[in-house]
Amino acid sequence: MTLERTFVAIKPDGVQRGLVSEILGRFERKGFKLVALKQLTPSRELAEKHYGVHCERPFFKGLVDFITSGPVIAMVWEGDGVISSARKLIGATKPLEAEPGTIRGDLAVNIGRNVIHGSDGPETAKFEIGLWFDYSEINEWLPSDNQWRIES
Ligand code: UDP
Ligand code: MG
Repeated sequence: MTLERTFVAIKPDGVQRGLVSEILGRFERKGFKLVALKQLTPSRELAEKHYGVHCERPFFKGLVDFITSGPVIAMVWEGDGVISSARKLIGATKPLEAEPGTIRGDLAVNIGRNVIHGSDGPETAKFEIGLWFDYSEINEWLPSDNQWRIES
């Protein structure tokens, strides 16, 4: 395992439905470290860059309309294996196919309103962190209970 960082965002539906603390808590309780967090309503330019790989897909315009429609909680989480682990915590893209116990499996039904985004691999994580955050917004810190999180 290597120390990684990943980009996670609570989409406008998650914020509007009051699910921020529920979702943040799952990452905290898992033992990952929050190193950046901010709320913003993304610009169209930011949303189109973020979802650029999907620009030819039929759902692209609706997705960009939706993600720019309200507040997003943008975060960077750090930890061993956090990129793939965050994807497991989040669950499958289609919430009705996401396992119970996952965020989408527990909290969503509609693919267009699946409450959360997480980077799907190391390259994407690097790109998305750089897209949403300035380097100066990433805060290095050492948890006081670090001894309980890491193998000694
Ligand atoms: N999406 C959609 N309709 C689709 C496929 C995807 O609205 O048929 C949306 C959905 O919100 C999803 C996002 O586009 O989270 C990005 O799709 P991707 O396949 O990258 O899923 P994710 O990585 O979010 O699980
Ligand atoms: Mg994706």
